[in-house]
Amino acid sequence: MSTTETREQQAGTRGGDGPLRGTPASRGAAVGPVVRVPEPLGEPAAGPAVPAERREAEAARIAPAAAEVAARLMALGGRPGLAPDVANVLFATSMMAEDPALLDAATALVREHGTPPARAVHEAAARFVAALQAAGGYMAERAGDVADVRDRLVAELLGVPAPGVPPLDGPSVLVARDLAPADTATLEPGTALALVTEEGGPTSHTAILARSLGVPAVVACRGAAGLDEGTLVRVDGTAGTVAVVPAGTPVGADVAAAGPRAVTGPVTTTDGHRVAVVANIAEAKDAERAAEVGAEGVGLLRTELTFLSATTEPTAADQRAGYAATMAPLAGTAGVPITARTLDAGADKPVPFLHMPPEPNPALGVRGQRVFDQGTADHDGVLDRQLAALVGGAADAGVRLKVMAPMIATAGEAARFVARARAAGVDEVGVMIEVPAAVLGARELLAEVDFVSVGTNDLTQYLFAADRQSGALAGLNDPWQPALLRLLDQLCREAVVAATPVGVCGEAAADPDLTVVLVGLGVTSLSASPSALPAVAARIAALDLDTCRRAASAALAAPDAEGARAAVRAAADAG
Ligand code: PEP
Ligand code: MG
Repeated sequence: MSTTETREQQAGTRGGDGPLRGTPASRGAAVGPVVRVPEPLGEPAAGPAVPAERREAEAARIAPAAAEVAARLMALGGRPGLAPDVANVLFATSMMAEDPALLDAATALVREHGTPPARAVHEAAARFVAALQAAGGYMAERAGDVADVRDRLVAELLGVPAPGVPPLDGPSVLVARDLAPADTATLEPGTALALVTEEGGPTSHTAILARSLGVPAVVACRGAAGLDEGTLVRVDGTAGTVAVVPAGTPVGADVAAAGPRAVTGPVTTTDGHRVAVVANIAEAKDAERAAEVGAEGVGLLRTELTFLSATTEPTAADQRAGYAATMAPLAGTAGVPITARTLDAGADKPVPFLHMPPEPNPALGVRGQRVFDQGTADHDGVLDRQLAALVGGAADAGVRLKVMAPMIATAGEAARFVARARAAGVDEVGVMIEVPAAVLGARELLAEVDFVSVGTNDLTQYLFAADRQSGALAGLNDPWQPALLRLLDQLCREAVVAATPVGVCGEAAADPDLTVVLVGLGVTSLSASPSALPAVAARIAALDLDTCRRAASAALAAPDAEGARAAVRAAADAG
């Protein structure tokens, strides 16, 4: 058996009676009781129709179910310590659950047409959602709340658990098939001790979220579905294991497994080669974490996460204020750059207000910068308004702004983006390298930009034709794959000729062993979740550039990902 087979088969298996094995997705370890996250609900069945003699009784189930849902939402909103805005949303949605117009419409469908009650609620809510969306503005923003209430009511009527992350009474290990960004908005590191998913790869949203919370995570962990609610487990996000532990084992994060806690000073190798260690952030609390751990700036501000629940385009003033608030925690760190990525809509990042038409292959469709590129779609000035808001927000926060576009494949796309960003007043403009064609066309592309930043998550998915969300393909979506490293090598060689800085902001930059290779290849900045940065900085500071170069050569020459890991460990030990 080759080493590749060993690793690829290792993803999602259980070694005899030993721990469950998955793909390591966020470092550290924690012990806690399992809390299972119910699967999202599909559309309830439209039939069979309720017989005439049962319609009254079935219709009469709707109001008590709504009362139960409303009471639960009220109780959730009343939990001590909840942020007031979250509590207010929960109180408002609890009132929505008992909205007489919604309940009357659903009840009428059961009485008059024999529609099953869960389906009736679904259909009645759909009309409300459509009406709210048509009204636009503030009303349209409530459509997502109605959909949430609808799903809770449907679950209650079907007698199945409500979808989404349940309220956590205490420190817990969340176990799910997969987690959507919206599921996890209210998670806190104190209560969500660790995340384990059956699906997802090391670059999925669960992994990104876990790193931003600074909690350990294991993804693509087949067998996790067999863990019962309340079972005490130890999740090791560095090794990628989940083990059942004896009752009475102390619950909490394993601080010793977490490694160093801060980036100390400008990061250099032992022989003085400078590497910028910067943060991936999406909102103000990430920026606060970045400042706390001593990040030297932001290499990736993911702007679309702010828009995930917006059903209309946020106003220019709201966008500007939002960006300023996100950037403000880093304002004290004079001169450090904040690199914002413009909207990366589509595929794994739905942006409802763009109303993008469905496509058979969204990951290969009009997504990322293609949504705004005159060569393909353009979208009525949304990009120009975002650029202006970023410039304004950075000025308000008093930070240095760099901007880059996602999903660029050609030099022409890069040139059009650069022109628009400069017209909006951005001084430093770059693009992300996420499509293999951009590397093969690097000579022309690099001539258009001030910097590039490699999104290894997407670059790997497109290089291997392997969906980054797929647990089964986690072995291919492995940034240690020599084919990916050879592509990066080619990019870095072109970048030296063009004298263009090359950053990496995909999850590859969160793996301290792999960052040794990246530095050896010539990458000039590493951007990862704040919690990953201290370990990355410590590893670089412990080695000289020659050792990094030797490690890179060894990885490039390896036959497979596991061989690359082993070769780099050997090269680093010899250094
Ligand atoms: C990437 O693709 O590597 C990246 C950093 O962007 P995202 O994960 O947000 O797609
Ligand atoms: Mg990407």
